[in-house]
Amino acid sequence: MRDPRYDVLFTPMAIGPVVAKNRFFQVPHCNGMGHAMPLAHAAMREVKAEGGWAVISTEECEIHPSGDLTPFVEARLWDDRDIPALALMADKVHAHGALAAIELTHNGPTASNLFSREVLIAPSHQPSKYGYPTQARAMDKADIRDYRRWHREAAIRAMRAGMDVVYVYAAHDLSLAMHFLQRRRNHRTDEYGGSLENRVRLLRELLEDTRDAVGHRCGVALRFATEEMLGPEGVELAEARDIVAMLAELPDLWDVNVAAWYNDSVPSRFAGEGAQEPFVDFVKRTTTKPVVGVGRFTSPDTMVSQIRRGIVDFIGAARPSIADPFLPKKIEEGRVDDIRECIGCNVCVSGDNTISPIRCTQNPSMGEEWRKGWHPERIAPKHREARVLVVGGGPAGLEAARALGQRGYEVSLAEARRELGGRVTREARLPGLAEWARVRDWRLGQIRKMANVATYLDSPMTAQDVLDFGAEHVVIATGCHWRRDGYGRSNGLGIAALVGAHPPVFTLDDLMDGRWPGGRVLVFDDDYGYYAGVAAEALRAKGNAVVFATPDDVVGAWGGYTLEYRHVRKRLAALEVETRVSVNLVEAEASGVVLEDVWTGRCESVACDAVLLVTARLPDDALFRELQSRQDAWPDAGIASVDRLGDAEAPGMIVHAVYAGHRYAQGLGEGREGEVPFRRHFHHAPSGDPSGRSSTQA
Ligand code: ADP
Ligand code: SF4
Repeated sequence: MRDPRYDVLFTPMAIGPVVAKNRFFQVPHCNGMGHAMPLAHAAMREVKAEGGWAVISTEECEIHPSGDLTPFVEARLWDDRDIPALALMADKVHAHGALAAIELTHNGPTASNLFSREVLIAPSHQPSKYGYPTQARAMDKADIRDYRRWHREAAIRAMRAGMDVVYVYAAHDLSLAMHFLQRRRNHRTDEYGGSLENRVRLLRELLEDTRDAVGHRCGVALRFATEEMLGPEGVELAEARDIVAMLAELPDLWDVNVAAWYNDSVPSRFAGEGAQEPFVDFVKRTTTKPVVGVGRFTSPDTMVSQIRRGIVDFIGAARPSIADPFLPKKIEEGRVDDIRECIGCNVCVSGDNTISPIRCTQNPSMGEEWRKGWHPERIAPKHREARVLVVGGGPAGLEAARALGQRGYEVSLAEARRELGGRVTREARLPGLAEWARVRDWRLGQIRKMANVATYLDSPMTAQDVLDFGAEHVVIATGCHWRRDGYGRSNGLGIAALVGAHPPVFTLDDLMDGRWPGGRVLVFDDDYGYYAGVAAEALRAKGNAVVFATPDDVVGAWGGYTLEYRHVRKRLAALEVETRVSVNLVEAEASGVVLEDVWTGRCESVACDAVLLVTARLPDDALFRELQSRQDAWPDAGIASVDRLGDAEAPGMIVHAVYAGHRYAQGLGEGREGEVPFRRHFHHAPSGDPSGRSSTQA
């Protein structure tokens, strides 16, 4: 079945006392569900185990209330009462022959303690990392002893929960074990500070403690960042080489990457597959223990090359396992073309950062495994025959057509343009977004295998065409367009001064349709997503001078949730794009526009030859509205339902369009979803106290 070239990916490998059945390793990843939604969390991990990953890890797991990560929702092992929630996951993972791993951590000054209200602790006195107005106190020897004890006790609890691999975490600038390594965080003068040997002491002790506590039953893994890109203030490659040499044989497995998270999970705009190799390739030459590394690997040839060239033993993946939980199975079964490749948009990351359950652009079932019962590969067959017409071949229409096809419906997909993919195809031509075409390509690949899905290009549909077509169900997924009137979050009445005046106004649709402004362009971003930054880059590539102006206080605020922010700022700076924050666009004048400072009200003329407005979008829903108004003609046309979805309903990101298409397909013929169309976790009062209140409180 599988290509023999890939055999090496399916050879077992020991991690201390346990054996992984193959080389696919789902490294720890946050998911916004954690300890708050243990059933949803367990179901999400189970699907990965079912999909063939040999090792499935939790996200970071807090070991003590003084390392409370609120508002972020991660795993938790504060005491024995947290064991059952994690045992749920271990049992589900074991049911498919995979190993369960857990990433124990105490985040020291990078915790918050907003929930526990404990005092933060750190190697030395220092401010908390995330801008909370608190400081962490320096740990004394008793604190260090306590910390080691908490870690040891958490390791034993993890083993009792059924975990097979227990991590010591020293990566991402997120754990005390790493903070003691960093000169900028560790100013100690005792045996835990100063020389490298002293700074490594605590990490060594944690590894020894963990091995001593659970090493007979569990593999002991070390997650270690080899480079922070901060120079001598951070862990640097030169020193990391020494650290790996000092601890080489102590863990049973080395899981290596770069820090912080924004340098590790780099969006595809800024890094391609395998980008971490130069930072981790030395590890395997320094230890005999197995090594796992990440690099948004989706190509089995790249994976094999990584192993053959001695870079890693295990193919580590977070995002590729989110986009396709069945990636290993598909390689094993010789179905490489079916792999749903991650596009590197980091929408998954935004779940954790917005404190909401994980979601994925490519995989609409991600995070919905338990609460909606969705599965990345399976879907319930239709209950009865019906023909469905999908109008619009963007991400919403494509996913609807694909999933309806998988359910067995007779589907026709009509697209006005000569190519499918809608906004995905158009945006993928902009700088850095080429991989986003994978959203289209995977769906097209699947649809082409389905005899019951017909696609029609060059087929702009009118309401009469739809009525004449004679499908029982009609799906309108006709997309949206960018507004030209300046309406947006900061200008609720639009920007009247720009209408019909000089300088000329352009939108992203113009750029994607090949209409480019000349000269110096002012990009006005009142949208705060990725679009304006990409447009600025595209204009620079065309040779335009660019001013990026936004009423917001930061550039592209959404990018803070997707780890794009720093990369965008650096790229705009490198491209010599002039950035202006906290300014609104208020007037047009012969030489350009007038910007008004939103805090002082001061106005300033800025010279430009054209304005690119990135403010808001409007649904292309004329077809839907006309069909609604002709509802009396539906019965004769055999139409039972007309729905609109995706950007034609309410413009959003690609992830929203794919989800909308999938949700429609899941729901067709299934009856009403109800007002709360998903399962939730409920907390019950302690037994004997049905009110949840003690009598004194009542
Ligand atoms: P979404 O993100 O919701 O999928 P897109 O803008 O990506 O929306 O895709 C909408 C697609 O619908 C575009 O490819 C567009 O050409 C197509 N389209 C719009 N109006 C019609 C129509 N009347 N008939 C057929 N296709 C249409
Ligand atoms: Fe990849 Fe985007 Fe899915 Fe994350 S959300 S796994 S980056 S496709």
